[in-house]
Amino acid sequence: MRRPLGFFPTPVVKLERLSALLGGPNILMKRDDQTGLALGGNKTRKLEFLIADALRKDCDTIITAGAAQSNHCRQTAAACALVGLECHLVLGGEQPENPNGNLFLDKLFDAQIHWGGVQRKGEGVNTVCELLKSKGKKTYIIPYGGSNELGSLGFVRASLELDSQLKEHEEEVQSVVVASSSGGTQAGLMVGLEMLSSETSVIGIGIDKLGVENHEFARMILDLTYSTANQLELDISYDLNDVEVRYEYLGRGYGVVGQPERNAIRTVAKTEGVLLDPVYTGRAMAGLIDMIKQGRFERGQTVLFWHTGGTPSLFSYTDDVLQY
Ligand SMILES: *Cc1c(COP(=O)(O)O)cnc(C)c1O
Repeated sequence: MRRPLGFFPTPVVKLERLSALLGGPNILMKRDDQTGLALGGNKTRKLEFLIADALRKDCDTIITAGAAQSNHCRQTAAACALVGLECHLVLGGEQPENPNGNLFLDKLFDAQIHWGGVQRKGEGVNTVCELLKSKGKKTYIIPYGGSNELGSLGFVRASLELDSQLKEHEEEVQSVVVASSSGGTQAGLMVGLEMLSSETSVIGIGIDKLGVENHEFARMILDLTYSTANQLELDISYDLNDVEVRYEYLGRGYGVVGQPERNAIRTVAKTEGVLLDPVYTGRAMAGLIDMIKQGRFERGQTVLFWHTGGTPSLFSYTDDVLQY
């Protein structure tokens, strides 16, 4: 079951000037920064399934968690406003003096914010949930990043959407490159592509240092592909080797803008007029640019960069992005 929250299909565009500048493969971009819900982003697709589940279970209050500049929390807050649910966000860090970017929007959507200090992956969610229950609320917890087998269904659906767009334009894509952080996007795309018996591979660009050791993050994505496929009563045959996550681009960690991200954001802005974000898509594009330089793709091949959104957080990183 799905509660429509966005405008789909999102466009697929050719990045001709960027492709020419880099001199590698042809680069397409899937514009999920244009999903239409509160400045867009990949979480809209997951929320269509998660919010539907909350409504089906007659819940009246949503609780989720993320970093202070979480795009997931901003889109959750907007979705709750749209369908009339109360929204509680457990955010990492402390209340800043001037709430800007996503946090400003969270407040505009009337979400109630609980500050979690050093924790930014929802460690405090259960405490908030118990408190709300004791006040008689019917609560529904959406996991960090909306990444469970329900949220991932949004990206199974997205792969089908992409497939019909590519067929229409007679394009074949060797690889999809996407920022990967809580894993639901990558897992959903992998399941969708397997469902289509597609040859296209998914390359996740790791955004967060957590989970790098012992392939923990890749294992989590693998598990998620199976639980998602299970929902669909679909047989899949992935193993750990099929989950490609690149960890070379983590820089100084989650949310820290370095020269590669800065360069990627500015290059794409000035060659294509497209805005990337400092935390996810800037880093993922830096990864794509590097992989092209390393010769990972051949000329004449086509790669698709999945733009997962994040635009509002640009406004809380202006100094980091413009710094020379
Ligand atoms: C959440 C997010 C991602 C990562 O998606 P996951 O499904 O959590 O891996 C990528 N880009 C942006 C802009 C995001 O907000």
